Amino acid sequence: MSIQTVNPNTNKIVKSFDEMSDSTVDTLVAKAEKAYASWRNISYTERGKVMHNVALLMRKKKESLAKLITLEMGKLISQAEGEIVLSADIIDYYATNAEKFLADIELNPEFGKAFIRHSPLGVVFGVEPWNFPFYQVARFASPNIMIGNTVVIKHASMVPQCAIAIEDLFKESGAPEGLYTNLLISGKRASALVSDVRIKGVSLTGSEAAGASLAAEAGRNLKKSVLELGGNDPFIILEDADIDKAVEWAVVGRVNNNGECCVASKRFIAVEAIADVFLEKFKDKLSKLKVGDPMDRTTELGPLSSEEAAVLIADQVKRSIDAGAKVILGGNRLKRPGAFMEPTILTDLTPGMAAYNEELFGPVASFYRVKDEQAAIDLANDSAFGLGGSVFTSDIERGKLVADKIDSGMVFINHPTWTQADLPFGGTKRSGYGRELSELGIHEFVNKKLIRISELNDPF
Ligand code: NAP
Repeated sequence: MSIQTVNPNTNKIVKSFDEMSDSTVDTLVAKAEKAYASWRNISYTERGKVMHNVALLMRKKKESLAKLITLEMGKLISQAEGEIVLSADIIDYYATNAEKFLADIELNPEFGKAFIRHSPLGVVFGVEPWNFPFYQVARFASPNIMIGNTVVIKHASMVPQCAIAIEDLFKESGAPEGLYTNLLISGKRASALVSDVRIKGVSLTGSEAAGASLAAEAGRNLKKSVLELGGNDPFIILEDADIDKAVEWAVVGRVNNNGECCVASKRFIAVEAIADVFLEKFKDKLSKLKVGDPMDRTTELGPLSSEEAAVLIADQVKRSIDAGAKVILGGNRLKRPGAFMEPTILTDLTPGMAAYNEELFGPVASFYRVKDEQAAIDLANDSAFGLGGSVFTSDIERGKLVADKIDSGMVFINHPTWTQADLPFGGTKRSGYGRELSELGIHEFVNKKLIRISELNDPF
């Protein structure tokens, strides 16, 4: 894939970038390693100052940065502005709390005295996706920089201007050279960099294929990896749910970020008693969404991120229909320029169909009718993925019992999904491993070093 900005609202190329050569990458990694040598010795307070400056500048430039997101990947402009604020919040959160999270842990061993010191590892490598171009980077870079690591980032090839803008924020905020480095390289070259001895850990957010390739390389080189991959999240509606509220959240859960969200609600599973009424209202609301230019503040559903993404989801819908699925709403590309797909609902889905097994990244909802709560849980768990999921019920205790039985990294009761700085984020099964955000997120790329103190004459 070439590195360029293509406006998905028009599919016109806006700007192209040259890939960095191997020697440029080598020089930049050397600078990151050099920066680590001093950054690791700087106090949390000093590190925090740089990071708070980055967050402040990000907030100041909210409008222009949000426009870049919308231009490059089609997110609705109001949601892009929300992403900038959320990203700044994450940066501030780690800048404020890292020292507390990484404080020494006193141990009480049977013999002698000991404690755990949290030490940085060195240069860590992040491979990031286009769907949340600022938020994903903030999740990875902020905790690592506060640990004392330095970061090199390979961002998705279709958001180069966002990638450059983030690096510029660090430069303008007084970050030392090499603390945060953007590598303009293609995905194909990302895995090769993992074997570089100067890289001490790798994290990838993206597809299963890219994750498996990067993690295999990390394994070969005995390096720690974190993977945040795709999902096929269930959205369970029980008979005691507030149906109107469930429908409202179902629409948000499916079309937020134009449906291109790892934790989007993708499989709508309604128990028999309320299935018809839910489906009718869900269809009505989805069909009334105003589709159009994501820069227009009245638009409710924008284009997909790229023509390739629109072609892929239209093909997944077609393959499902060919295999026997029924279309309740939509089902086609919109007849207008740009990477647009109609809001769509599919039913009569069975194992083996594309819409049953694969992640649908766009405004296409899979609808399932099941006998009861247990059947809903069984269907929810019949997925290779295990990222998020939700359950709608008026009985919170019942919701907690259902949540406990869903095999995923996150379950939301009476909400489609949620993320904030102080809540952990991550999945199980083929959705990856490791966690980002919260205190858990800062413990991924850190050396939990044991330091033991003995008296010289202690017995061995
Ligand atoms: P992708 O194709 O895997 O791309 C993600 C990143 O990986 C990009 O920077 C890409 O670079 C790079 N890449 C591609 N092939 C690679 C390879 N063989 N080795 C190393 N790096 C490689 O994924 P996407 O389609 O952009 O992103 C959407 C996916 O991300 C969805 O599945 C979504 O669910 C998932 N996601 C997960 C989370 C989470 O937290 N779990 C969050 C957001 C998104 P190029 O752009 O240069 O190809």
